[in-house]
Amino acid sequence: MDPDGAARIAARLAQVRDRIAAAAQSVGRDPAEVDLLLAVKTQTPEAVLAAIDAGAHLLGHNRAQELVAMGPALAGAPHQMHFIGHLQSNKIHQALPWVGCVQSVDSPLLATRLDRAAGHAGRSLDVFLQVNTSGEETKWGVDPGQALDLAYAVGALSHLGLRGLMTIGANTPDPDEVRASFERLAQIRDQILASGAPGTNQAVELSMGMSGDLEHAIAAGSTMVRIGSAVFGPRT
Ligand SMILES: *Cc1c(COP(=O)(O)O)cnc(C)c1O
Repeated sequence: MDPDGAARIAARLAQVRDRIAAAAQSVGRDPAEVDLLLAVKTQTPEAVLAAIDAGAHLLGHNRAQELVAMGPALAGAPHQMHFIGHLQSNKIHQALPWVGCVQSVDSPLLATRLDRAAGHAGRSLDVFLQVNTSGEETKWGVDPGQALDLAYAVGALSHLGLRGLMTIGANTPDPDEVRASFERLAQIRDQILASGAPGTNQAVELSMGMSGDLEHAIAAGSTMVRIGSAVFGPRT
């Protein structure tokens, strides 16, 4: 990566941090409550390393092939990797060594398979449940009405640690609808915590908000925004 490219990434990262801080302050929240995860799909390892140099240490891949291909290039750089896309069963074993958290658990079957794979690897795995809060058919994620049952099922699995929920905001220009989809995730998280069900008392994280809607997500309680294009530029 040329110095200009690295400087551009660092500058955009700083702008995003400013947006997060302003959004948090405008609703009376502490900006430190909101983590920034960089969504690195389609980026080169050089661009991602420049972002890590600029202080971005929480990263997310949404395709197993890209995750595995980039893994060795990032091995020496301080970062935590989450998986944020739809994970096919036949990719679990390839993906697992490269991730500390899978944010896209949306079925009991996927949860069971991840639990078994983590057990075989002699480790535990943090997970978030992905909830389809907008009801859009094109989106992955468990139905809001089934999210509690899924949380109970995941809480009972010994190699998975349930840490929170993830959603993709409604894809609409209507800000009320976008906000409502994020508020729904916060309500489900509160219900899970209130349930007192085994293995659910650390399900506190709300991974929601992207480049276009992070302000709405933070207003609704986001604890982790996932940002791609605002830092790396539009995807080509
Ligand atoms: C790409 C991606 C993001 C980031 O989206 P931007 O609009 O580029 O900020 C967030 N979450 C997921 C699951 C993604 O795939």
